[in-house]
Amino acid sequence: MAVNGTSPLTVRFPTLPAHPDPVTDAILDSGLLQELSHAFGGPFHFLLPHRFDANLAALRAVLEEAGVDGRVYYAKKANKAALWIERCAAGGAGADVASLGELHEALGHGVRGEDLVVTGPAKNDELLRASVLQGALTTVDSLDELDRLLARTRAGPHRPARLLLRRLPPAQPESRFGMDGAGIEEALRRCVRAGDTIRMEGFSFHLSGYATRPRADLAGHLVDLCLKARALGLRADRISIGGGLAVDYAAAADWHAFLAAQRPAHYHARKSFPAGGFYPYHSPVAGAAALRAVLAAVPGGGRESLAARLRGTRTALLTEPGRALLDRAGSSVFRVQGVKDRDGYAILTVDGTSLSLSEQWFGSEYLPEPALVTPAGRALGPGTHPACVGGASCLESDLLTWRKVPFPARPAVGDLLVYPNTAGYQMDSNESPFHDLPLPPKVVVEAADGPDTGGGRPRWRLDRRPAR
Ligand SMILES: *Cc1c(COP(=O)(O)O)cnc(C)c1O
Repeated sequence: MAVNGTSPLTVRFPTLPAHPDPVTDAILDSGLLQELSHAFGGPFHFLLPHRFDANLAALRAVLEEAGVDGRVYYAKKANKAALWIERCAAGGAGADVASLGELHEALGHGVRGEDLVVTGPAKNDELLRASVLQGALTTVDSLDELDRLLARTRAGPHRPARLLLRRLPPAQPESRFGMDGAGIEEALRRCVRAGDTIRMEGFSFHLSGYATRPRADLAGHLVDLCLKARALGLRADRISIGGGLAVDYAAAADWHAFLAAQRPAHYHARKSFPAGGFYPYHSPVAGAAALRAVLAAVPGGGRESLAARLRGTRTALLTEPGRALLDRAGSSVFRVQGVKDRDGYAILTVDGTSLSLSEQWFGSEYLPEPALVTPAGRALGPGTHPACVGGASCLESDLLTWRKVPFPARPAVGDLLVYPNTAGYQMDSNESPFHDLPLPPKVVVEAADGPDTGGGRPRWRLDRRPAR
């Protein structure tokens, strides 16, 4: 089939390489992954603890440099590994949990109750009770949830329930989360009536999308709400701006060239993906820089930066990043177990399923390209062997990559495909033991140049001990 007048052999398939990552490359070159693939007999994920620590330190440095009293809470839903919670506990960070299971995990791996924020809509009574008993900060999503929380505090000898009121974003009125202006006013009245059975600490929001300006605008509004609440005698000394700090996976030029070039002929079964349906894999302002931009912006209607406004009103800033704390903190490894030739490309089948690459379940595609690791090492060079990647299931729709990725060598059975930067949301939010395939284990890898590896080779351990 000719595309734009060229023969199939000269069709240029667009590429989207992830940013270079020498630490991950060193692990790919070490031989460790082949060994682990052999040992586990299936796919696995590896996690890099030092990256989480560095991302956390960078966010804190931004708060410090802005002179803002603040706190970082890891949004646990982004990855189920125990490791991240252990790093939170070790580093004095908090965690954002949204279920009883997440709360157990966080407490069980050492984060103290008072360092938890409990989010999620219409939390069940067990979660509310545990949150109050643990001295966690409960984000109240609605008036009826507030009433249930107040009933809990009346029901027993507890310490005061710590809470934030979640604001429905005025710019996203279709959001199903939070309370509108009238709801917040009524909630404040009920908080005042509750007296010292509660400690109303402020307000929160979580916005869809990754833009920094709407976050600064809404944060400014929440500071105004805090002043209003303080006038009513409530504590209201902090705001939470939720998560949504972007992650920058790929270079600007590569991303824009990819979006301009990609069309259905570049995908298996001519599947079409609208450019706007992809995660923005390139973000000029991401991670800690995005937090810096939020703090530097002047909220709409105001005259000073958000940072100045927070300082001037003695308001603390809480942030709950998930994806941004996990940037470059892990990869997912699959072994090629079949190669089938099609018209101008190959269909690879790997030893796992697309349930281990969650983006595929949102009508979208995880675009940063997998590295091909052959027994002779990483395949490098121009991509001349296009292939899509299917999962080891009986579903037509089970593709880890619909796109015909141009690999530098012809993939062969036994080669590894290593998807880069998958720790944030890709690894496990949709995983299930479909087809009775075991869930891919998670392996914590300390890079060869890390302080604990005792020289030459990367060192590994399981994220969790195997069940007996
Ligand atoms: C999902 C979520 C987050 C984390 O979002 P990221 O985009 O991963 O940073 C933070 N807060 C709340 C309330 C959330 O629902």
